[in-house]
Amino acid sequence: MLTDTHCHLYYDEIKKDLSRVLDDAEKLGVDRFICVGTNVQKSRECLEIANTHKKIYASAGIHPHDAKDTSKDYLDQIFNLLKSDKMIAVGEIGLDYYRNISEPEIQNRVFREQMGLAQLIKKPVIFHNRDADTDVLKVLLDFPDVIGVAHCFSSNLEIAKTFLDIGYYISFAGNLTFKNSHLPEVAKELPLDRILVETDCPYLSPVPYRGKPNEPGRTRFVAEKLADIHNVSLDVITIKTSENATTLFNLPS
Ligand SMILES: [Zn+2]
Ligand SMILES: [Zn+2]
Repeated sequence: MLTDTHCHLYYDEIKKDLSRVLDDAEKLGVDRFICVGTNVQKSRECLEIANTHKKIYASAGIHPHDAKDTSKDYLDQIFNLLKSDKMIAVGEIGLDYYRNISEPEIQNRVFREQMGLAQLIKKPVIFHNRDADTDVLKVLLDFPDVIGVAHCFSSNLEIAKTFLDIGYYISFAGNLTFKNSHLPEVAKELPLDRILVETDCPYLSPVPYRGKPNEPGRTRFVAEKLADIHNVSLDVITIKTSENATTLFNLPS
């Protein structure tokens, strides 16, 4: 079965319908989920959701968009949430220079502080990177003991290889399936033992649901596309990507 390594299950349209959403996911071959927080409150909600389902895990972190709104003690709050066994990563953290909703300087400070936390508690990170390759890399290189995943990868092959070289995994979302995407060319060159799949739902629905609200079950379409690209069966992709998730996030196998 597949693992959706990045979903935001706390959005009302998903949360209020969660048992139906999970049933549909199971029918599509997706039965493990990482519910990713974007600020303290959302991270707490992720943990609450994870605590009600055996195969939902959670992460806690401050998204670059939310970096401008952090309280003085945000790091302590994230640290406390991460004490739970169900909390398997620090994230999502990172830099987003495409929208620059928080000042780049603030984004960088909050990213670095959370990388420091990940190093301290020895948990992997889930990072977001939009139009910020150089600066993201700079931060990652300053924390050589930390590993994690480049979520919703959208950069070029060179940067993908650089992330792999320093121990990170690459995660593909629905944009892998979009017409005219450069990502299949990137994915083709990456080893299957370092790739993850995700939905980033409720955003980024893959083809054939592009433009509609996304759900965790649609990890299936990302995995099918990856199978196509690598010319292997869906089973191979399922086994590999789920093994990778188990290894990176130290999940029970
Ligand atoms: Zn993101
Ligand atoms: Zn996300």
